[in-house]
Amino acid sequence: MELVNTKDGFNFKILKDKTLAVAAGVDGVFYCPFCYSQTSETEAKCASCGKNFPELIYYHGDDDTWIASGNESN
Ligand SMILES: [Zn+2]
Repeated sequence: MELVNTKDGFNFKILKDKTLAVAAGVDGVFYCPFCYSQTSETEAKCASCGKNFPELIYYHGDDDTWIASGNESN
């Protein structure tokens, strides 16, 4: 599990087996949820920061953070 930074103008989008960032109002263009480099939904990890894309990103209300899970490398 890893903390994720939100970015103005971006939302998280859950795909079949991963969660990526998308720009609000723009469909079909995906970004790494960690570094916000543009990526493709067919990639398993970010070519820019090298992190695996998480299965899920969820909001943790107790301390107002977003958590990525399922991105641990084997
Ligand atoms: Zn990245």
